[in-house]
Amino acid sequence: MRKTILILMSETGGGHRSAAIALKEAFEDFTPGRWQVLFVDVFADLLPYPFNRAGELYRPWIAYARWLWKLLWFLSMPEAVREPVSFAHRLVIKPRFEELLRREDPVAVISVHQFSNHAHLDALRSLGWDGVFATVITDLVSVHPFWLNPKVDLCAVPTQAAFEAALRRGIPPEKVKLSGFPVRRQFRPPRDRKALRRELGLEEDLPTVLLMGGGEGMGRLLEVARAVNESGLEVQLLAVAGRNEPLQRRLESIPWRIPCRVYGFVDFMPRLMQASDVILTKAGPNTICEALAVGLRILLFDYVPGQEEGNVKLVVDNGLGDFAPRPEQVAKVLARWLEEPLSPAEVRARARSVVNFDGAANVVAALSELVYNH
Ligand code: UDP
Repeated sequence: MRKTILILMSETGGGHRSAAIALKEAFEDFTPGRWQVLFVDVFADLLPYPFNRAGELYRPWIAYARWLWKLLWFLSMPEAVREPVSFAHRLVIKPRFEELLRREDPVAVISVHQFSNHAHLDALRSLGWDGVFATVITDLVSVHPFWLNPKVDLCAVPTQAAFEAALRRGIPPEKVKLSGFPVRRQFRPPRDRKALRRELGLEEDLPTVLLMGGGEGMGRLLEVARAVNESGLEVQLLAVAGRNEPLQRRLESIPWRIPCRVYGFVDFMPRLMQASDVILTKAGPNTICEALAVGLRILLFDYVPGQEEGNVKLVVDNGLGDFAPRPEQVAKVLARWLEEPLSPAEVRARARSVVNFDGAANVVAALSELVYNH
């Protein structure tokens, strides 16, 4: 009989969904046909109106009040603040979980979201559920205490920095697994970049620059696009606006001097990355790990305050890329990189000591052992 796994994620940005898909694929690879993996959106599916729409605040909040995001990120760290919030949260989500448990009878619940590791585990246990609860952390360096709960059965972490953060928060070492990052299996080095460019209708021989800002098209993407357009560099640009439709329209209205393709939210990101030589992006952990798995050098131009700050240092200190917060700086670094390109194999070799891309397979192996020994 198939065993059911619930993955707690959300549609804010694009990263939680990508991590959830990577895990779902890995379950199917591990023992085909054995698992039913269902996604549960921690806002839309578990909270009542109007809180179920909270995920929609993410992009405008970061765009117009990033200082407030940063303030709350730090203010919510002490336990004295987190405990009452978590208690209220648990009361609100409990009835939805009761219904889910009755309907789906999961053997395990995996959280890939920083907001679903305390209240959610408490709510499940208070309903008498005794399955396996795992947290799969997808922040690389700056790990908020919301992620870290010593009561989980498994805490899978992507990097050494996250491993140390988990131990510091009192998670017993036997529960912490340095599994790597759950990157979807399609993100691998290109076999034939030119052929791929042809298939995508792109110029075959021009250096190709991928520009993106996570699932929501965040950060100063428009200004960076303009700077590349006016740089005089002989490149083609693939600009991905994600779900940010106003940004997509603005990108489309730029009088382009270089070949440029503007996309909305795409479901073929592996192919866009494989067709590119360089990526310009905000410091989202999923995008960083996917780009490294493909072998792309990363030029960061922005980050979400708090959770993505450490990612900038990780990329720069390990020679995986650079940080250029001003659009004109982006164009300068890009010009230098085009003169001295790094091959996908070189980028992957540098990344190897920083993060392992087989996180999803490692999590699934550890989790299934826990499920069968439970
Ligand atoms: N993504 C995608 N299509 C798009 C834009 C983004 O599939 O058009 C994916 C991207 O491959 C990555 C995720 O969305 O897996 C973005 O995650 P990240 O952690 O970088 O940032 P977030 O959007 O979560 O802030």
